[in-house]
Amino acid sequence: QPPADAADPAAAPTPLTPVLSRYWDDPRSWTLDTYRRHDGYRALDKALRMDPDQVIGTVKDSGLRGRGGAGFPTGTKWGFIPQQDDPTAPPHYLVVNADESEPGTCKDMPLILATPHALIEGAIIAAYAIRASRAFIYLRGEVVPVLRRLQAAVAEAYDAGYLGRNILGSGYDLDLVVHAGAGAYICGEETALLDSLEGRRGQPRLRPPFPAVAGLYASPTVVNNVESIASVPPIILRGPQWFRSMGSTESPGFTLYSLSGHVARPGQYEAPLGITLRELLEYAGGVRAGHRLKFWTPGGSSTPLFTADHLDVPLDYEHVAAAGSMLGTKALQIFDETTCVVRAVLRWTEFYEHESCGKCTPCREGTYWLVQILERLEAGNGTDSDLEKLLDISDAILGKSFCALGDGAASPIMSSIKHFRDEYLAHFELGRCPFEPERSTLLP
Ligand code: NAD
Ligand code: SF4
Repeated sequence: QPPADAADPAAAPTPLTPVLSRYWDDPRSWTLDTYRRHDGYRALDKALRMDPDQVIGTVKDSGLRGRGGAGFPTGTKWGFIPQQDDPTAPPHYLVVNADESEPGTCKDMPLILATPHALIEGAIIAAYAIRASRAFIYLRGEVVPVLRRLQAAVAEAYDAGYLGRNILGSGYDLDLVVHAGAGAYICGEETALLDSLEGRRGQPRLRPPFPAVAGLYASPTVVNNVESIASVPPIILRGPQWFRSMGSTESPGFTLYSLSGHVARPGQYEAPLGITLRELLEYAGGVRAGHRLKFWTPGGSSTPLFTADHLDVPLDYEHVAAAGSMLGTKALQIFDETTCVVRAVLRWTEFYEHESCGKCTPCREGTYWLVQILERLEAGNGTDSDLEKLLDISDAILGKSFCALGDGAASPIMSSIKHFRDEYLAHFELGRCPFEPERSTLLP
């Protein structure tokens, strides 16, 4: 059944709103010259003339919510940082989480590659607002072209006086360090990231205390996603009401939706929060020719699956949650009817088993057993009690693991059994995968 509050498919289509991506196609979009031609660093100039509290107030008023997956209000997070100018208090830090690794999630790397200065300008404004004089960008080290481009842009920003001492004559000093992570998915979890940045093995810390209270080197720290930080300069320049003129009251603004998989024109589509997959597919040329939608992820592989029944769910935090999933990173992975859902779920579960950091038992042991059972089910060697075991183990992981990775592993399994139980049953009734030998080309 479609959700009761689904958008009306006959209504006028929601227009795309390219802000972050508006000049990604410009030749040499990543240079400082190009960035300046598109209002670059004007927001910084404006922010440095404001009081830090006013900058935080503006971001609070905009209603910007974290684009890393959880949707926590960005201005509120900044507001947790002690605002007094006390020289004896511990320093504050800004850490940008650029360790994008969720399967299907692919917005932050293109953003940095196309417009690294948008991230740098946002980071300087955020650091100024929280009274930090040192900021870090923790980037996935394997994506070497992005690392090199970001490092080059940071050097350009230093040379132009946007970083370093007395920025734009304001008296404000900031050093920005780009740190290349070693490629562990768990280092995208904010506290594991902080441990890694401090030089330790990246494993999640107990929260609370949240990083805002005790983060990097036990100091008050804001950890924000790349897209959240890059959204700050246009908000400062054009004002919170302009941002609120897009999206909904609870989920205002524009965002990047990443379409991948069995879609005619995969890529980044920047639109107001609340657009539907049906509308996004119109812009993306639809599901690949001759095929139909079978299932999709609204927010990366960690979020419960949706089906064709969810085409008209407004893609904002509230509606996606009400329909039983999470907006997450807005990574819309599209699978058509040639895809074996058991195979897809097995592939994701292998990823979570490999990336589990091993700190807590439900996730460390559970993901191992989930892979064993899914492998035999997919090969046609399972039994119907295996389905119950899958659900049992998933239930022992969901909400009982130390960090969100465990929940992420369990969610696609539970939702796939809910929507496609018959397909699981068909595997052991036939004694093989029903999609053999015509497997989807998307999966190994
Ligand atoms: P969370 O809801 O626990 O926290 C979100 C943010 O709000 C954190 O920065 C946290 O410090 C802050 N926060 C929450 N409550 C607070 C409080 N009371 N006081 C101060 N600060 C507070 O979510 P999470 O576990 O940090 O992240 C999970 C999300 O990460 C998932 O939704 C998933 O979609 C996403 N994710 C993203 C990727 C990626 O590649 N981008 C990968 C895996 C998961
Ligand atoms: Fe580590 Fe998994 Fe536990 Fe997270 S849920 S702490 S990744 S073992």
